[in-house]
Amino acid sequence: MFLRESTALPTPRNRFPNDEGRANMNEMYQHYLQSADWQKKRRQKRTRTNRCGICATTEDLDVHHLFYRRDLTKTRMEDLRVLCRRCHTIAHELIESGVLAFVNRNHHSRWAVTKSAVKHALGISHRNAFAPGI
Ligand SMILES: [Zn+2]
Ligand SMILES: [Zn+2]
Repeated sequence: MFLRESTALPTPRNRFPNDEGRANMNEMYQHYLQSADWQKKRRQKRTRTNRCGICATTEDLDVHHLFYRRDLTKTRMEDLRVLCRRCHTIAHELIESGVLAFVNRNHHSRWAVTKSAVKHALGISHRNAFAPGI
């Protein structure tokens, strides 16, 4: 089954950029979030998708980057996923604490790993994830 192919593995710390690299990245990213380009793409994504890709709620929706392109203005719709605030927060906690390891930059793989780990953290089983009412 699709979701089972991707298992979250422990990630060695050395796979992350050093603190300075991370600070530069954050600064660039914060700057990008203010840009008209991002406002447009974010709106576009939200217009196409009006529910959380993990728990399916329609409340408090954010737009999440599966990965960041070196040039953020080259961000494409497929790089983005709509997540509710709760699932988004959990996803970032898992990613930033190094719990999730992404084996490659493939969108499907990243999304499957993220989705599966957040569902696990929330106690939502894969089978029931898209059942009505969740
Ligand atoms: Zn959600
Ligand atoms: Zn995000």
